[in-house]
Amino acid sequence: MAAIKSLCVFCGASDAVDPAYRAAAAALGTLMAAAGIELVFGGGQIGLMGLLSRAVAQGGGKVFGVIPRHLHRAEIGARPVLGTVQVVETMHERKALMFARSDAIAVLPGGFGTLDETFEVLTWKQLGLHDKPIVLVDIAGYWAPLLRQIEHVVETGFAPPSSRALLRVVNRVDDVLPVLASLPEPRVAPPDRFSS
Ligand code: AMP
Repeated sequence: MAAIKSLCVFCGASDAVDPAYRAAAAALGTLMAAAGIELVFGGGQIGLMGLLSRAVAQGGGKVFGVIPRHLHRAEIGARPVLGTVQVVETMHERKALMFARSDAIAVLPGGFGTLDETFEVLTWKQLGLHDKPIVLVDIAGYWAPLLRQIEHVVETGFAPPSSRALLRVVNRVDDVLPVLASLPEPRVAPPDRFSS
């Protein structure tokens, strides 16, 4: 596909996680900055989100965060704000703006919020509302149980075999940008399909 300009990254807000996941977040940020790809993310300065966004900013890249007002204190608080942070009123607005602003989506290890965000863009894609690439970054096998569950969903008939193609899986942060560059151009869905 044509070079992407912005990448939405979903990832965990927890700091109490294995250093391998933390290193992956920082490494992806460094690569994005070097490639001139804007980071679109949830705006938080904690956990992998903070490591990722700091690495992009420190590498001279652009950062665009979207934070709901009620989470500002918990996820940013007194920490320095890097790049642009857009304050919105609801979680739904946050997800819609992150999606609208980005050319593709990457998913690093994360918790319930990351899962929610990932399955929303995945199900929108399943319904044909968009065709943006979604890359699951399976660091140290973190997403293996999820990939087994997705396989189970397909094998039991709850989703068609074509669903497997909704998501690309890579095992290394280094593969994210090359995989995105190798994918076909997304179809563009009419924007009004997201308005109701
Ligand atoms: P987690 O993966 O649970 O560590 O959360 C990662 C990010 O997702 C955090 O910024 C959370 O605020 C956010 N998040 C949690 N739940 C939701 C949700 N339902 N919709 C949108 N973002 C969420």
